[in-house]
Amino acid sequence: MSTKPTLPVEALSLNIDSYVACSKCAEEVAHIEPKISLQDYAAVDIGFTQWGLQVWCRRHQTNIVHIDFNGQQLPADFRRLEKN
Ligand SMILES: [Zn+2]
Repeated sequence: MSTKPTLPVEALSLNIDSYVACSKCAEEVAHIEPKISLQDYAAVDIGFTQWGLQVWCRRHQTNIVHIDFNGQQLPADFRRLEKN
């Protein structure tokens, strides 16, 4: 895993176009009163595995997605923007 920065600095802000969510959490949160967001309800672990990157639902102890890198080593940017 290369940690050499490859992305433009603006890519380090929130750029998520499509969120990854547990379908069970999404179903449950729709019935909770008072309403809370899926973002506040979800509890996930995200990490690298021998195959790629896994998103795990801690609440349901189930796989949400496991992205297979097919043995590829992808560049990853771990820099963090600090607020001034
Ligand atoms: Zn869940």
